[in-house]
Amino acid sequence: MTSTPDFSHLWMPFTHFQDMVENPPIVIERGEGIYLFDREGRRYLDAIGSWWVNVFGHCNPAISAALHQQIEKLEHVLMAGFVNEPVLELSNRLARILPPKLSRVFYSDNGSTAVEVALKIALQYHRLRGSARSEFVALGRAYHGDTLGAMSVGSIPEYHTIFHERFRHHHFTDTLYCYRCPCGCQKETCSVECLDSLEKLFLNRGENIAACIFEPMVQGAAGMQVYPAKALKRIFDLCERFGILTIDDEIAMGFGRTGTMFACEHAKNVPDIMCLAKALTGGFLPMSATAVSEEIFGEFKGDYASERILNHGHSFTGNALAAATACASMQLMLEHNVPEGLNPLIQHFQMQLEQWRGRPYVGDVRGIGLVGAIELVADPATGERFAASDRIGHRVGLEALHRGLLIRPLGDCVYFMPPYTATLSEIDEMLDATRESVDAVLNA
Ligand SMILES: *Cc1c(COP(=O)(O)O)cnc(C)c1O
Repeated sequence: MTSTPDFSHLWMPFTHFQDMVENPPIVIERGEGIYLFDREGRRYLDAIGSWWVNVFGHCNPAISAALHQQIEKLEHVLMAGFVNEPVLELSNRLARILPPKLSRVFYSDNGSTAVEVALKIALQYHRLRGSARSEFVALGRAYHGDTLGAMSVGSIPEYHTIFHERFRHHHFTDTLYCYRCPCGCQKETCSVECLDSLEKLFLNRGENIAACIFEPMVQGAAGMQVYPAKALKRIFDLCERFGILTIDDEIAMGFGRTGTMFACEHAKNVPDIMCLAKALTGGFLPMSATAVSEEIFGEFKGDYASERILNHGHSFTGNALAAATACASMQLMLEHNVPEGLNPLIQHFQMQLEQWRGRPYVGDVRGIGLVGAIELVADPATGERFAASDRIGHRVGLEALHRGLLIRPLGDCVYFMPPYTATLSEIDEMLDATRESVDAVLNA
């Protein structure tokens, strides 16, 4: 027997109180593969990897086993003067996967702090070189996390505006949104005019800019805005021309999601700093990493009387349990031959996604690797949006739950981030249930 859950002490992230009352959270009891099961035994296909973290299925047995083994030995030890075995192993495993230039890894516990660390390293790096560079540039509609520093380089109005007004914000380019191009261009023929705005910022303020931070290939939280590799390349090229550090936020798109191990590979470039999190532990435990070039780390080498120390750390930096799950997750990356091994799944997924083009109320279909999105609009001919008050995406998400599907759209953008272990028929089930959910809302 299950008792009626009491939610009266819970504060849920990204959730309106009214929604929490009208559609109380579903209590999940267990997970297996792509599925979650609630206390009544109802099954939900998790199409978004529980906010993009789950890549090898829920309760993956290999990661579970690694966690069990580690928990018998050591749960945690501070990471100054000491280091645990899993984190040492993880660093060596990451070094083998990462571009060779990114040779040093700093650990923290979530994506936002991986970004905070990157921003602090960039600021202090310039200071150590006697430069006053202290400003950042980010993309329009960027998302880099919810802590204050990460929000100062984020520009999604619903999340960031009140904090930009009250705390601080940096500089933003046009957004990279091909479906609604800010410059009125077509994706296939454009010359990345949207990033003229980046060039202009560098021309105007270049000497003050410490670094440029960006989500590679896909602006995720903005609504899975997939953008072409030539745009990413232009970001790298402009940063190089103006001598500005690159911070590549691979938190969502790293570890194979876009069909390459790291999304920056689409532009054949390597950043100065890379942030990793979500898939790092396969979705088991919170852990993140900020990888930097030896050149940047070099500025932090000095004797105890110098300022050459990064005074940053968290209670749980390099946690042994999290590191053990990350090692297991990295082992699975090898065993599944990520990224090449994902190709059959990617091909099937992208082909099925293409079937959505031209359907009623489908404005845009966009995808890369194992990311896909469908933007629902009131009028596909003009791209006219639904009224926000209609909450179309929200209602599609609720319909999906009735059909045993977890999608949780971003606004009116329905998107998918299936695990790498999904089967072709699970992909079909996911897209079929989505179609039924969309039809149920829009044909009503
Ligand atoms: C999720 C995300 C973050 C923040 O990570 P958290 O673990 O939620 O703090 C930062 N950047 C990108 C691109 C993300 O997708």
